[in-house]
Amino acid sequence: MTRLGDRFPDADLPHVALGTAPTPVRRLDGLDLDAEVWIKDEGVFGDGAWGGNKVRKLEWIIPEAHRRGTSTLFTVGGIGTHWGLAAALYGREHGLHTVLGLVDQPVDDHVREQLRRLDASGATLHRYPSVGRLKVAAPWILARHASWSLRSPPRLPYYLPAGGSSPVGSLGYVEASLEIAAQVEAGLMPEPATIVTAVGSGGTAAGLLLGLRLAGLRTRVLGVVVNDSFRLDAVTVSRLANRTAALLRDRGADVSIDLGPDDLTASDEWMGATYGATTADGQAALDRAAGIDLELEPVYTAKALGAVRTLGRDLDGPVLFLQTHGPRPEA
Ligand SMILES: *Cc1c(COP(=O)(O)O)cnc(C)c1O
Repeated sequence: MTRLGDRFPDADLPHVALGTAPTPVRRLDGLDLDAEVWIKDEGVFGDGAWGGNKVRKLEWIIPEAHRRGTSTLFTVGGIGTHWGLAAALYGREHGLHTVLGLVDQPVDDHVREQLRRLDASGATLHRYPSVGRLKVAAPWILARHASWSLRSPPRLPYYLPAGGSSPVGSLGYVEASLEIAAQVEAGLMPEPATIVTAVGSGGTAAGLLLGLRLAGLRTRVLGVVVNDSFRLDAVTVSRLANRTAALLRDRGADVSIDLGPDDLTASDEWMGATYGATTADGQAALDRAAGIDLELEPVYTAKALGAVRTLGRDLDGPVLFLQTHGPRPEA
């Protein structure tokens, strides 16, 4: 039984377990900050070849694809997309084929390794130099991967926005927030004043925002925006949280929460020049983390921890850092 299912026993919310919950929380020492920092390790979430925050989303997206009667997912991302890889690997285990529209991004070792994993994932890859070119090609991709039959209209792939940040995907972090509340309740960590997460497409932050409110916590979300491919700020994140609340209502859950841009903080101050660009704060956070045996990557988590380190005591504590990344050695 999921925590969402416990909370709303009469709601129609199909779920498939892909990881082991709850993910562990611990105090994060060795950052040389005055602030009290805790970490929740979402990196260990997932039993397959890839873990992290995208797996939480797929727990709700995969059964939704089955409910829609489709066997193909179509989604988009950069050529280093963690989301696309997770969709391909976990979808395949559950009878779904994934088609990816990929857009070029700055290439470093991390991205090269991701591309290699994507190639090996069984997904069909279509690669473009810009978001504009991908948009022009999208109708062709949808038609090309539709299943055609003489008797019924073509069945198009189930389209998912970048990062899996649809209302269905965001349920993963509503669920995770209820889990955080239970960990606070059990005395495993103090109630965080601030939870810090990287924001790449908004579903994680939106799910947290709604879930923390549902759980009755006062924790404020600080979203460290790392993506400039589309509009991503407190307005778009709170809107996604409200669309997720509306989905819950549609499925029979009694949710009357209404959120607005003042209910979270979102800042692109730590993004650097663009999505995937390196930054001095991010690099410093990567180095520091390596010294305390914490494995970050440069695109998301290093920038989020960079924000924690540069804000330091200006952040309301206790601070909970969400470790969203989950590579597996043999992916
Ligand atoms: C995708 C991703 C994020 C951002 O999550 P969104 O829900 O897309 O905002 C953060 N960290 C890592 C490691 C990710 O792969």
